[in-house]
Amino acid sequence: MSIQTAPDELPLVRAEGVRKSYGPLEVLKGIDLEVKRGEVVCLIGASGSGKSTFLRCVNHLEKIDGGLIWVDERVVGYRLKGEKLHEQSHNEICADRTDIGMVFQHFNLFPHMTVLENLMEAPLKVLKQRKDEVRRRAFDLLEKVGMHEKAHAYPRQLSGGQQQRVAIARALCMQPKVMLFDEPTSALDPELVGEVLRVMKDLAKSGMTMIVVTHEMGFARDVADRVVFMHDGRIIEEGPAEAVIGRPQHERTRAFLSAVL
Ligand code: ADP
Ligand code: MG
Repeated sequence: MSIQTAPDELPLVRAEGVRKSYGPLEVLKGIDLEVKRGEVVCLIGASGSGKSTFLRCVNHLEKIDGGLIWVDERVVGYRLKGEKLHEQSHNEICADRTDIGMVFQHFNLFPHMTVLENLMEAPLKVLKQRKDEVRRRAFDLLEKVGMHEKAHAYPRQLSGGQQQRVAIARALCMQPKVMLFDEPTSALDPELVGEVLRVMKDLAKSGMTMIVVTHEMGFARDVADRVVFMHDGRIIEEGPAEAVIGRPQHERTRAFLSAVL
């Protein structure tokens, strides 16, 4: 028997002491967070508290000024050479980023491509996978998000909720290890929010590791294994949803929740 930690017990995402400034403005003031495989973490907090910046750091879209982030045991933005960390080249960063799916508030689908082409583009061009294989996977995913009948439609022919479901399927078509969501329903008309949250809930049930920035407290209560409250660049409270949302300990968390609930 091995005495090593089983790989599925290691956190898939680990942030330690992450700091990030824009000029004189320190936006992340030492973030420590671990997300296990299959875990769903909802990140909540007021506008400007640093939630998007943190997600962008995990996805190498921003360079951090202090601390380290690991995704699946690899240090984000650096590679180990002997004992030393070296900054990754642009190509290396792009290669590692394919492990991480990201869905934004604005769906930014490619407007000149059909739904199916949107899904197939990156697996073909970036991962250089076989067309028939990618096409099959794309149809499977479109079926999962209830969009297979629109495979040949263009984004402009779809509602916001439909576009966001396609954006989720597109991210999944890259077979990422973790999915990051940054307020995926905030730009939607209220009646379209539910269909997107349903797709995300199914994805969570399927075992996907997810970090979700959201103001949808109902979703956080139902789906999150853990809720993390950020304030002013720090995590100030975290725990199971029923604790953080139901019985917040920190005054800041209480003030935030009473404003959004
Ligand atoms: P949240 O997602 O929680 O609303 P953000 O991470 O978007 O917060 O922003 C945190 C702070 O960082 C805000 O004060 C915002 O104005 C600032 N900020 C975000 N991105 C930039 C940037 N590219 N340049 C300068 N300031 C930024
Ligand atoms: Mg944000």
